[in-house]
Amino acid sequence: MRRIIVTYHESFSRRSYLTQGTRLSDFPEVLNDILQNPEYEIVHVSAAPEEWILKVHSPRHIDQVRMDPLCSTAWHSVGSVVTAMKAVAEGRAHRAFALIGAGGHHAGKDYFWGYCCFNDVVIGIRVLRDEGLARKFAIIDTDAHHGDGTRELVQNDPQVLHCCVCSRDYTSRDGTKVDLSAFRILSGCGTEKERNKAYANAIKDNFVPLIYSFAPDMLIWYFGFDTHRGDYGDLGLTMDAYLSIAKTLRETAVEVCDGRFVVVLGGGSRRDLASQLIPPIIKSL
Ligand SMILES: [Zn+2]
Ligand SMILES: [Zn+2]
Repeated sequence: MRRIIVTYHESFSRRSYLTQGTRLSDFPEVLNDILQNPEYEIVHVSAAPEEWILKVHSPRHIDQVRMDPLCSTAWHSVGSVVTAMKAVAEGRAHRAFALIGAGGHHAGKDYFWGYCCFNDVVIGIRVLRDEGLARKFAIIDTDAHHGDGTRELVQNDPQVLHCCVCSRDYTSRDGTKVDLSAFRILSGCGTEKERNKAYANAIKDNFVPLIYSFAPDMLIWYFGFDTHRGDYGDLGLTMDAYLSIAKTLRETAVEVCDGRFVVVLGGGSRRDLASQLIPPIIKSL
């Protein structure tokens, strides 16, 4: 039997950093149907201990996050992502979807911005390595914006493949840090269908071969739905693009890393879109 977990804390539905704190208001109730399936379980998480956060951020950074009322869910958000990554690395779950209140990919060692507070994914990487659970990680970031904090933190780490769709094209000398320009991918696409297809195919054609040759221990999808039509990073995408990426990455994880696949929620502000998009993605895992 597959076992899929969804990591969650109730604060994400009330005090989320992501615009007025309402985007996950319908959670976890909106997952009730899925949770009828015995393969799925919701895991209620605790706040991350300070020692985890100090693996990545400076004490000054932590003090500044503490002073920002918009970051009140940051400790539980890290707890959610690390819990998901640990459960999959330890084989207690096959795959996981980590819900969050405060985002992660715009948090560097000593700065944070753009709805982000602590770099949840990089903290997870350090915790898993220190516990001897995994060493090599591939991160596919399809939030609308460049994952600058994550890139800064893993820039000199050849054991992390970081692929990001944003506003520029770039490949590092060692080939483990790659950006693809969404504007180039989508140029010439008129209809919604064309945009969804071009975007999902760009992941398949450009990133999947890199994941195969890199052979990570775990695949992480940083999924922002701010790229959805009408949200704040609007690229004109809709559900079909996300489901297609989920399928591609899930299948890739099965082939390259024993199915170890963790989806981490990134940007996106609308409550209707969160409730509409997230459950089918979880279901597809
Ligand atoms: Zn974003
Ligand atoms: Zn980027």
